[in-house]
Amino acid sequence: MAALKPLTAPDIRDAKRLVVKIGSALLVDRIHGLKLDWLGALALDVVEARRRGCDVVIVSSGSIALGRKVLGLGDGVLTLEQAQAAAAVGQIRLARAYEEVLAPHGITTGQVLVTLEDTTDRRRYLNSRATMETLLGFGVVPIVNENDTVATDEIRFGDNDRLAAQIAVTVGADHLILLSDVDGFYSANPKEDPTAQRFDLVEAITPEIEAMAGDPISGLSKGGMKTKLMAAKTAVAGGCAMAIMEGSTLRPLTALANGAARTWFVAQGDPQAARKRWINAMKPKGELHLDAGAVAALRAGKSLLPAGVRSVSGTFGRGEPVAILSPDGAVLGKGLVRYTAQEARAIAGHKSGEIEGILGYAGRAALVHRDDMVI
Ligand code: GLU
Repeated sequence: MAALKPLTAPDIRDAKRLVVKIGSALLVDRIHGLKLDWLGALALDVVEARRRGCDVVIVSSGSIALGRKVLGLGDGVLTLEQAQAAAAVGQIRLARAYEEVLAPHGITTGQVLVTLEDTTDRRRYLNSRATMETLLGFGVVPIVNENDTVATDEIRFGDNDRLAAQIAVTVGADHLILLSDVDGFYSANPKEDPTAQRFDLVEAITPEIEAMAGDPISGLSKGGMKTKLMAAKTAVAGGCAMAIMEGSTLRPLTALANGAARTWFVAQGDPQAARKRWINAMKPKGELHLDAGAVAALRAGKSLLPAGVRSVSGTFGRGEPVAILSPDGAVLGKGLVRYTAQEARAIAGHKSGEIEGILGYAGRAALVHRDDMVI
């Protein structure tokens, strides 16, 4: 098969920043509730990754499954309102369970509930990125789920595969592991086609590969190969390698490192390069004209402070792309700006310490952070 090439597979032990997605079925048993043995063992894998110096983010499903059990809602189909209510009841227990298994190892957890808009709206995207970065900087393991209680149909991810990929790209993760009930990506549905073969490694997600995932499923369905492939596309384009593996074995991440069956999707470059490509492809909404000192600072890898900006043109909101110009008008690069055009005009030429006096609130010190800039 064309996509099976003798390429070195990614290795979870190389991860510097890892996102692990955990499906409901792995965590919640219809009869007994939370599978604490499995979760306790997973905690050991997390401890080991942290010991290697790897940041870990967990994207966990299970709030609805857990909540419906607590509320005694049975196995039938839930209305949206019932599912949202179940999520509210289940989520608090889910987050607590992670805390209970990780705290004894000295690991602090934090709960992060996101909606689709937190990744599509640029200002909110930058905010969630900054919060996640701060959490990871504190050594916290964020436990992420969709905010099912408030997210309605039109504005929800609906499945945590794509949510996990989006989170991986947001935090600049280099490895994403989908722990699932299937052991990888197959050339056809293995339940229907005995000749179906599992891929060890997918180097590129070609139309041929996409056709193998089967028909698109509705936005409401959870999981499925199609959503996993969509997740893989997002992840690899963001410079993050992704694996799909069967997760029910105790310590699945150790099993993965030891060569368990799985499919790896190879990343396109690294997360930094991918982010630069993403920023570079945007059409600027305005311009920031710098003085010579600011140009030198940016070339030395610093963030752009308002003090180094002589003038501002265009109309833009927070988080939108702007061109960065040198004193002679040449385009130096692009970046995502942290203030609106109006605010940027007001603080241009001023020291960061003066921002609060001018705007009436203490905003961020940098006008464009170096991580959001391509020079
Ligand atoms: N957010 C949902 C939950 O926690 C799960 C979505 C999914 O299974 O992909 O129940």
